[in-house]
Amino acid sequence: MTLSLSMLSSCQQKATVEEPQTQPQGWIIDRFDDIKVLRYEVPGFENLPLQQKMLIYYLSEATKCGRDILFDQNFKYNLTVRRALETIYSKYDGDRSAKEFVAMEKYLKKVWFANGIHHHYSNDKFRAEFPREWFEKMLDKWVDTKELPIEKSELCNIIFDEKLYASRLNQTDGVDMVTESACNYYEGVTMKEVEDFYAAMVDEKDPKPISYGLNSKLTKDEKGNIVERTWKLGGMYSDAIQQIIFWLEKAQQVAEEPQKSIIGALINYYRTGDLREFDRYNILWVSDNTSNVDFVNGFIEDYGDPLGRKASWEGTVNFMDSTACRRTQIISANAQWFEDNAPINPAFRKKEVKGVSAKVITVAMLGGDCYPATPIGINLPNADWIRKEYGSKSVTIDNITYAYDKAAQGNGFNEEFMLREEDRARIKEFGKLGDDLHTDLHECLGHGSGQLAPGVKGGELKSYTSTLEETRADLFGLYYLGDPKMVEIGLIPSLDVAKAQYADYIMNGMMTQFSRIELGKNVEESHMRNRKLIAEWCYEKGKKQNVIEWVKKDGKSYIVVNDFDALRKLFGELLFEVQRIKSTGDYEAGRKLVEDYAVKIDYDLHKEVLERYGKLGIEPYSGFVNPDYELVEKDGKVVDVKLVYKYNYTEQMMEYSTKYSFLPSIN
Ligand code: ZN
Repeated sequence: MTLSLSMLSSCQQKATVEEPQTQPQGWIIDRFDDIKVLRYEVPGFENLPLQQKMLIYYLSEATKCGRDILFDQNFKYNLTVRRALETIYSKYDGDRSAKEFVAMEKYLKKVWFANGIHHHYSNDKFRAEFPREWFEKMLDKWVDTKELPIEKSELCNIIFDEKLYASRLNQTDGVDMVTESACNYYEGVTMKEVEDFYAAMVDEKDPKPISYGLNSKLTKDEKGNIVERTWKLGGMYSDAIQQIIFWLEKAQQVAEEPQKSIIGALINYYRTGDLREFDRYNILWVSDNTSNVDFVNGFIEDYGDPLGRKASWEGTVNFMDSTACRRTQIISANAQWFEDNAPINPAFRKKEVKGVSAKVITVAMLGGDCYPATPIGINLPNADWIRKEYGSKSVTIDNITYAYDKAAQGNGFNEEFMLREEDRARIKEFGKLGDDLHTDLHECLGHGSGQLAPGVKGGELKSYTSTLEETRADLFGLYYLGDPKMVEIGLIPSLDVAKAQYADYIMNGMMTQFSRIELGKNVEESHMRNRKLIAEWCYEKGKKQNVIEWVKKDGKSYIVVNDFDALRKLFGELLFEVQRIKSTGDYEAGRKLVEDYAVKIDYDLHKEVLERYGKLGIEPYSGFVNPDYELVEKDGKVVDVKLVYKYNYTEQMMEYSTKYSFLPSIN
């Protein structure tokens, strides 16, 4: 599971560069549409031993090689569209300030950012702001249209016909989510066929259930039989996987045990596509708490599949930030206390919390579904039975949150949306600490807490799984952030940290996060849903005691928390219920919670938020460019690895599309 950027209080996601710039080009290096692109630093890299630097270098190369896979997973024609646009973009010899070209450039930047033609967050297809006739001329002039894998007219329909492939991920209750979603995990099959196909595979009695379908596309063969096309060497995406394996083998040569064997298991999984081998790799990986350099590389998260089964490709390389680990060490040391005191049915508590490994890391490379939009925390592996038996690894990415924080100062957001000066003052003083700790608790303990009732396998909540899981982890974090224990063990100076977080969380969940949704649309993304669910539920249940209140002032709406203690109790009550739903696999109750509280937005409020937000002129989404690593050789031997910041956003994207693009346009 990942903790996405959306977890940050939204005030931290916007930026203007008004402060003195601490890097040559500042923290923000590009802005377009609703997006800004930042850079991140990699403090401590220079001081690593050569062996670890080389390991980071090789793993980073492996991280860059999977980019095309994600493009193709997101939509079958993404690579075709991207390549046509890039060809025109690089060959074009006309006026680059002409309005059609500028509009196409913006569109291309958005495609790069989203790894496809659908918005990375809302999942809606981008609207092209350049004319179709102009684009057709550009295609004729610069692209060898005979080489296109599809007809020119079809390519143009994909870009310009708004109704065609309108949403990458459609999870509207009651529709066929498989046929209505444009993502490329299924083709020629219906939702019912998919559900039946996997229902027949699952062995109810297996205590170590295989994550069936995780690494394949489901489609039909010529005879009409439903078949899986597995993503492995020799299977689908083979050309990219071959390159990933090449660099993993290099990494393996410089790695030390146990990492050498871990990388070996991953290579073997890529070679065979065997999901049992993936489990073996995960067990080895989660048990390794000593390697300073660590990585994620593979088909990991299922947020992009409407049925939550198929995993998108992602990669990161990181190393431990040893000085910043104090916080999470304290949390880990008290993990059993947190579990034993959780406000949930004792039957659903873990008797023994195993392997809660919590680290603060410095990320050195981002790839696939972690790039350019990036999680700020990661908790893996995802298989419930492995988490139960072997624990999970949980990290928060400090150099990323640091960059966000730096880039988000003095933008006027809190002044606009937060009514009370006391709340603003608390956020100014404790906002970063509150966010960090909430992230730690969510990742280190929240996802790893609780257990399923006997006989419950974990897939019962279907399309509501990820929203409810994020709700559970968030509630765990919110509930404990306000616990006196936090002061007692030295994690916070006072409970004002929790007050800052609570006020911010409720405001974000019920109001300000809507600034990232188009007017009239529902909430779709699972982290956004989870925040709305929690805030709205607590508002309703606390209405009699006026725990949370809507206030109108000068024609503007504000949401205020009046009673922080009562709010904390409500967090506990909701956690009790959400844990029950997960542990017992109560689909109907889970569905009702999500549909009642998390999906629909009040139209007038939404409109107001967008107007007020629009006036601030700040982009709601951010992502990052990667640094580069260069081998320094002397007499044919590598003597050092240099960290360099070479490219701006466009340059980096073009370089990745040139040097790290291995797949055919249609796969
Ligand atoms: Zn999470």
